[in-house]
Amino acid sequence: MTAEAIRARSTAHWIIAFSGGKDSSAALKIFLAAYRRTKVRLSRITLIYCDTGVENPVLDVYAKAFLQQAEQEFAQLELSIKIELLKAPIPDRFFVRIIGRGYPPPTNSFRWCTTGLRIKPVSEFIAKQNPDDTVVVLGLRQSESRQRDRALALSANLYWQKQREGKGDYDLFLPIVEMSVPEVWDAIFGLSLPTALDRSALEALYRGASGECPVIKAPTAPPCASGRFGCWTCTVVRKDKSASELIKSGHSQLKPFLAFRDWLAEFRNDPANRWKTRRNGSAGLGPFTIDARKEILKRVDSLEDLSGTTIIDTEERGVIASLWTMDHFARLAFRR
Ligand code: SF4
Repeated sequence: MTAEAIRARSTAHWIIAFSGGKDSSAALKIFLAAYRRTKVRLSRITLIYCDTGVENPVLDVYAKAFLQQAEQEFAQLELSIKIELLKAPIPDRFFVRIIGRGYPPPTNSFRWCTTGLRIKPVSEFIAKQNPDDTVVVLGLRQSESRQRDRALALSANLYWQKQREGKGDYDLFLPIVEMSVPEVWDAIFGLSLPTALDRSALEALYRGASGECPVIKAPTAPPCASGRFGCWTCTVVRKDKSASELIKSGHSQLKPFLAFRDWLAEFRNDPANRWKTRRNGSAGLGPFTIDARKEILKRVDSLEDLSGTTIIDTEERGVIASLWTMDHFARLAFRR
């Protein structure tokens, strides 16, 4: 099916959406195996990875190491595959929204994060392409959600879907749409390329996780749920099962990250940390107070020291400082 698709769209720009998770890994492997078999020379192939800045640190290290090695491997194999790391614009990043603008950490009813952090960077990249000439390879499977199954059931060919973005509809190609989870793992273990993909490491990462947060809202995005890989800061889930499982299996470096996440979820729920009204003046708890934002920043700083990682970079810190100033004057004006 994939080889046939490549032959049928041999002049298109093929974009492979990679998240580091099992489904997009299987989709990538299937695509590469089929591409080599066809002997077709595609003029443009791009592998995109969305760097949220708050990805589960273990998965993040794994995915970035893979991308670095894959770039070399693709060059050695003379596969002209470009790798693009996509990132949300600074104002949309997780801690800029929370510490800068005082957004409460996401909940099921106010899940502002998936679109800004994951879907928008990808859709903006795709929107810049010519839709008639673009095929996006997505590791999307049927049976992952009832909502998704209903949407897929409406299409004549499960493997090809249409997605609207920017200048028009582009094609989505879903090489693993009919696969079960064991078949996905069979593809990951059975297909050799890219060898940069560490199958055993990926399998070990999955002991506590069942899926990934989506990067393309297509055809309908399932919500991120318990046991999915995603942001280490995720407060949408009640408990971060995947992080807990990873800690149990030896990734003790995640402990302070998990403790921070748990603390943040509690902190969000304390009304004393929030404005008494919403930003637009309507009734209901509003953004974090400036003091609360300072407290969160202090905790992030401690976590950075403890983990030896950069969680908020210099540019983001600059934007946070200017957002505080804006909010300070806005509150003064509001009180007048
Ligand atoms: S993993 Fe959680 S915090 Fe991250 S985008 Fe998905 S729902 Fe939002």
